[in-house]
Amino acid sequence: MSGHIIYHPRYNISLCGLEKFHPFDTYKYAHIVQYLKDRGVITDGDLLRPKQASQQDLRSVHSCGYLCCLCCPCRFAKLTEVPAACLCCWCCYDPMVLAPMRFATGGTLLGGRIALDTGWAINLSGGYHHASGTHGGGFCIYADISIVIRTLLNEKKIHKALIIDLDAHQGNGPERDFLGDPNIHIFDLYNGSIYPKDRYAKQAIKTRVELQSGTRDKRYLDILRTTLPEVFAEARPDFVVYNAGTDIFEGDSLGALGVSDEGIIARDDIVFREALDRRTPIVMVLSGGYTKESAMIVGRSIENLLSKIRDRDQRLGPAPASLPLSQPDPAPLMVAPPVRK
Ligand SMILES: [Zn+2]
Repeated sequence: MSGHIIYHPRYNISLCGLEKFHPFDTYKYAHIVQYLKDRGVITDGDLLRPKQASQQDLRSVHSCGYLCCLCCPCRFAKLTEVPAACLCCWCCYDPMVLAPMRFATGGTLLGGRIALDTGWAINLSGGYHHASGTHGGGFCIYADISIVIRTLLNEKKIHKALIIDLDAHQGNGPERDFLGDPNIHIFDLYNGSIYPKDRYAKQAIKTRVELQSGTRDKRYLDILRTTLPEVFAEARPDFVVYNAGTDIFEGDSLGALGVSDEGIIARDDIVFREALDRRTPIVMVLSGGYTKESAMIVGRSIENLLSKIRDRDQRLGPAPASLPLSQPDPAPLMVAPPVRK
């Protein structure tokens, strides 16, 4: 299925060999593509290659001061959680780490545009949900989720966006960027006992569900199945960013949750079905999840999604964005529901 999946070989990150000391599989993206090609799900011709996010793209959200700080090796080392990177110079780590993240950010932006045109898109990277306009952290430098939403809002291509953040960690970056914005609804389902525990950013979450460490498939999926229709009904979005971190996987020590690979595939299926049933454009970004199993889980989930979408298209015809995007939604804003914990 061509024209929906976004990937660039430059997504994959090298740190002069230092990545061997980092817990992340920084070649996850290439491994996903290889899995999908091995399974005959896609060919190289099916993949869309994004451009690197430009300075103008980045400046739609990031302050000049923050972008300048990235030239400082020690600041960079802190953001990427690789202390030894303090010894590198900018001309070394920019092409090896920052440029891949700019390509990934460009991929999320392209994914947003493709989703508006065709109904859905998947960027095989991105989801840097700890980065905001003025801060980074947790291996997140550029705020790709905020950038795609801010850009499409500025262009008046969308009016009300929904962020569905199902990574194991609280997505404090977009939360800080959109705090107080009535046109952005954030649904965040995360482990409340791990990083970042950002109390200030929590104020921006309109539907918040904090999980306990070790939460397993049944409880996780029951919550999602119950909450997601309520979220869509309240948010009435014309655009969805789905942050599909796989660090909820039971084998991921950073996420500390207990969801199985089958549970993750079911999760992605539920989210896509909810969006496509409502003909709401959705772009999925991959976010966290860097264990050795992550690439295969993502690959299997995408294989499942493509199969379901293909069946659906044969039954109903393709589901492009059908909302009257040139006109604002006249419906009144809904009152935020009670916070769930
Ligand atoms: Zn995470």
